[in-house]
Amino acid sequence: MYDPVELAEKLKKIVVRDDGRKYYRFRAARFYGGIATADCVGCCLRCAFCWSRAPLINPERVGRFYSPKEVLGKLDSIASKHGYSQLRVSGNEPTIGRQHLLKLLELVERTSYRFILETNGILLGADAGYARELARFENLHVRVSLKGCDPQQFSKLTGAEPEAFELQLTALQNLLDAGASCHAAIMREFAPPEKLGGLKQRLASIDRSLTQRLEFEYLIPFPHVIRKLVRRGISVKCESLRESIQKNR
Ligand code: SF4
Repeated sequence: MYDPVELAEKLKKIVVRDDGRKYYRFRAARFYGGIATADCVGCCLRCAFCWSRAPLINPERVGRFYSPKEVLGKLDSIASKHGYSQLRVSGNEPTIGRQHLLKLLELVERTSYRFILETNGILLGADAGYARELARFENLHVRVSLKGCDPQQFSKLTGAEPEAFELQLTALQNLLDAGASCHAAIMREFAPPEKLGGLKQRLASIDRSLTQRLEFEYLIPFPHVIRKLVRRGISVKCESLRESIQKNR
């Protein structure tokens, strides 16, 4: 088991250089009705259902460093080409490299784009100051993707210490306390009714809107994802997989 905050510190030395951050891809994506996407390198979790491979396992070997200005330039050109009004950083964990992200958001704030920050929330839960810094950006929305419904399931799915589950919920608390726009998401396949009820109660105890706006995301059943789940002894019902395949079409 590992401490994801410690892992993030180690990764920072690999994927952050001055105000640059490593990215491995820039692309147009269909999510959110169309969004220009920068895929960063390096994540502080090791989710069994993660589709990312080399950027997660070999951050030293993948991608190259981009300054915030270069990232915005790439995203802007994709968005202009496709007529998108939204930008995001995704792929791995965007909150590793705080100064880079904040500088990027400062640049985006001078445009008319809406920015969606997709995060596992670990670093925003570990430091309320980080959430406060994000809250000053008016065109930012944060999507915290929860990895499981409770500490035990979180640990089984990510291999991280179960205590770190709380950091994800604290991230939502910190963001809301700071006045940031945010919502929570969870993977449908790992939110069975007997666990989902408990999670919804926890979310409602932070803020009722989190339960009302809880988003379900769906496993992308790539062969390497299925193999990883099997290796870790995590089963997914065939019925759920069928639903995932349909949702990802
Ligand atoms: S938090 Fe996201 S990027 Fe990181 S391992 Fe989990 S699914 Fe992959």
